[in-house]
Amino acid sequence: MSEYTYKYNPNRSAQWNYGGAKWRLSRSKIDFFFECQRCFYLDNVLGTKRPGFPSFNLNIAVDELFKNEFDRYREEKTAHPVMEEYSIDAVPFEHNDMDMWRDPFVGITHTHSETGMVISGGVDDIWKNPDDSLIIVDYKSTCKDGKIDKLGDSPWEKQYTRQLGVYRWLLEKNGFKVQDLGYLVYANADKTLPEFGNTLNFETTLVPVETSVDWIDDTLVEIKACLERKDLPPCGERCEFCPYREAAGKKLQAIHFANKK
Ligand code: SF4
Repeated sequence: MSEYTYKYNPNRSAQWNYGGAKWRLSRSKIDFFFECQRCFYLDNVLGTKRPGFPSFNLNIAVDELFKNEFDRYREEKTAHPVMEEYSIDAVPFEHNDMDMWRDPFVGITHTHSETGMVISGGVDDIWKNPDDSLIIVDYKSTCKDGKIDKLGDSPWEKQYTRQLGVYRWLLEKNGFKVQDLGYLVYANADKTLPEFGNTLNFETTLVPVETSVDWIDDTLVEIKACLERKDLPPCGERCEFCPYREAAGKKLQAIHFANKK
């Protein structure tokens, strides 16, 4: 049993739950609310989160290398070649808090006056226009057929739009002027080559994302109401976990009761 508890703790320390000293509403939790209010409630109020899965280490490696690369241009105060290729008249933004803003455990923060919740989000990058307004940027990597030059309307892509919107909102709440149009720096791996040879080749593109922040205040009020419910919020429509959990529970119960007879 102790090994089970080591691997998966179904009762996280209350200080990380809603109302606890360390709880805050991160950008990813806002997305979790959109995905399934019930699981969001189980996690944030009851302290029982869905089991994790292995991290996407190749994507993390690309993010890290992009960060190092853009930091070099940040130091030089010059545009990265991909910005020149897409005629973006900007440079990577330099700010004393940049490392903190990029730390997913800290990020840019703001206390929302209407709900009292602390909202946070860790950005990948921020660029600066000649008029000092800012551009929100996120690094992405994948392996898809064709050139990636625009967002589709899959749930993932809608999530990216919300993600950049939350970052823009956080920066605006911290007193910065931010342009509506953000960008994804997209690295797309080429899988058409005859062999691996210890090398992955990527095509890097810039994908524009029209952000909006109008939805955020109302969503935060809805999230607060969800967190304070005494009954269970509804399940997300497309999730496979609950039907699995129910089916598995019924089958195990049937065996349990059959053995008791
Ligand atoms: S549908 Fe069920 S398992 Fe899936 S996210 Fe919601 S509560 Fe969790």
